[in-house]
Amino acid sequence: MLFYSLEHLLGNQIKVDNKTVHWANNFPFMIVFVALNFLWAFVVVFCMDWLNSKEIGLFYLLDMPYWLKLILGVAMLDLVSYWFHRFSHLAPFLWRFHQVHHSDTKMDASTNFRGHPIETFLWFGTSNILAASIFGIDLLTFGLYFLIVTPFIFLEHANLRFPIWLDKTVGLVFTTPNIHKVHHDQDQHYTDSNFADIFILWDRIFGTYTYKPAEQIKPGLEEFDTAEQQSFWYLLKSPFMNIKRKI
Ligand SMILES: [Zn+2]
Ligand SMILES: [Zn+2]
Repeated sequence: MLFYSLEHLLGNQIKVDNKTVHWANNFPFMIVFVALNFLWAFVVVFCMDWLNSKEIGLFYLLDMPYWLKLILGVAMLDLVSYWFHRFSHLAPFLWRFHQVHHSDTKMDASTNFRGHPIETFLWFGTSNILAASIFGIDLLTFGLYFLIVTPFIFLEHANLRFPIWLDKTVGLVFTTPNIHKVHHDQDQHYTDSNFADIFILWDRIFGTYTYKPAEQIKPGLEEFDTAEQQSFWYLLKSPFMNIKRKI
């Protein structure tokens, strides 16, 4: 609601003709997203708690101050999420579900919720459990990660104008809204780039960083351009259809 209000007050970066229809399509995703993540969170916390009780993971073997484990833990959760995201673009089976997030031609703060329900289980929870079992991430670090990543992902999708100087300074280390919007461009060269949620450093290190001025970005996927293809029910069924990428 905060970002929805800000978008109204400050004006939009990407033109949205019919905001009501857009919200009507994204709102059911919001309900499903919150409900599934709420349930899935119990499983993830239970698994992480068990891993912690057995002291499984790299951080348990290293002697370092706790504050460093907190920072490194957040960075490693973001790194594992980067690779899950990258594989979601590489593997056709995963792309079938992930394309729902990319299908939005009228991006705004609600796009954050636009993800296929099955993707909740394929990516969000499993990525965190995997990171915890490799690195030994505890629940406090996990909580801190969500406190940081949540405002990041809302800002990244908000339909607001952000200055270029932000990309040239903060954007050297962190993912800025303009940088994430490049990831939503219809041209696959740009769609398959800028995968990181918090640290754009991962894209810079692994060679997937690209940039394009925000006003040149055309969000969405050409194969989801019609009004019917933007509807909740079509998007829900879309992973089970054979939809070819056009660009
Ligand atoms: Zn993506
Ligand atoms: Zn996105």
